[in-house]
Amino acid sequence: MSKEVRQVSRLGIMGGTFDPIHYGHLVAAEGARYEYGLEKVIFIPAGQPPHKLNIKLTEPWRRFEMTRLAVATNPYFQEMSIEIERPGPSYTIDTVLEISRLFPGAQVYFITGADAVFEILSWKRVEQLLSICKFIAATRPGYNLDEMWRKRGTLPQDFKKNVFYMEVPALAISSTDIRQRVREGRPVKYLLPETVEEYITSNNIYRD
Ligand code: ATP
Ligand code: MG
Repeated sequence: MSKEVRQVSRLGIMGGTFDPIHYGHLVAAEGARYEYGLEKVIFIPAGQPPHKLNIKLTEPWRRFEMTRLAVATNPYFQEMSIEIERPGPSYTIDTVLEISRLFPGAQVYFITGADAVFEILSWKRVEQLLSICKFIAATRPGYNLDEMWRKRGTLPQDFKKNVFYMEVPALAISSTDIRQRVREGRPVKYLLPETVEEYITSNNIYRD
């Protein structure tokens, strides 16, 4: 997308490895858009996720292309390549600062799944991050957010104030499972958009 300055007051960021993107990501982003009145949700594939430095990922431009295909049918969604263009590990603080520069005055909401929400506390410059950005934690099957959420009283005040909880339709879908299914020749239909499935098939991704 072009990087012109835009007037948006409530903006979502959906970050992830997106290897590949699937309906779990899309349902979480759409739920957040609706519930938090976001005017736009930007999907930003990570270049090099700091917690996945030892894991072999699909080339960033392919993950970006799958993301582009997946968000194309939702007028509120768009993709951005800022993390894959930035050298080094992809830190959320750098991304949120860049987005805030591109959309001055916008309140930024970072959307994450239940498995990632408490990891925020270990992220780079977490205090600054929580002061410039709010987080929306979407429920995810296999991760009992309810239980963890009750214990959040022990967490720092700025975490309690700036991290919200959101229930979304439970989709027990993961990129790990999709990659394994493709490798084993099992179906991935209805787990991710058909355009993404076609891209995976025609480019022979996840086969080896
Ligand atoms: P992998 O298995 O490779 O880790 P993943 O399916 O967990 O892939 P990521 O790209 O790691 O996908 O996730 C990006 C974000 O989307 C994370 O915040 C994650 O918690 C969230 N997310 C992923 N799948 C779901 C799902 N099925 N429901 C809700 N949130 C999800
Ligand atoms: Mg994951």
